[in-house]
Amino acid sequence: MDCIFCKIISRQIPASIIYEDDKVLAFNDISPKAPVHVLVIPKTHVDTVDELADMSVVADLFLVMKKIAAEQGIDKSGYRIVVNQGHDAGQAVPHLHFHLLGGRSLLGLSIF
Ligand code: AMP
Ligand code: ZN
Repeated sequence: MDCIFCKIISRQIPASIIYEDDKVLAFNDISPKAPVHVLVIPKTHVDTVDELADMSVVADLFLVMKKIAAEQGIDKSGYRIVVNQGHDAGQAVPHLHFHLLGGRSLLGLSIF
């Protein structure tokens, strides 16, 4: 499949991977909007929220995001989780991904 995030999962293209288990991969965003800007994705390709049928994926992703927030030391200061769905939201990569952002005040941050 010609999907950039699937290629990161299969190590066909490099990324700064910070977490992996059998269902979830997390890596640093290549164009970070905050000191912590991690993309958290399901390993099974799904285009968008709208295409998502298996909602257990959402629980898997949230558990990993909580774990990463604690590891990166932003669990107490606060963080933002963003999902862009489709054209009007500016979704650029059609593989479902959650942005985890933190490490500074995010008030006024536009995504994207
Ligand atoms: P979105 O607009 O929600 O689809 O966000 C896509 C995100 O993927 C953007 O924040 C990009 O900076 C990021 N991105 C695109 N290509 C890569 C890559 N090869 N490695 C890491 N992040 C990427
Ligand atoms: Zn994909």
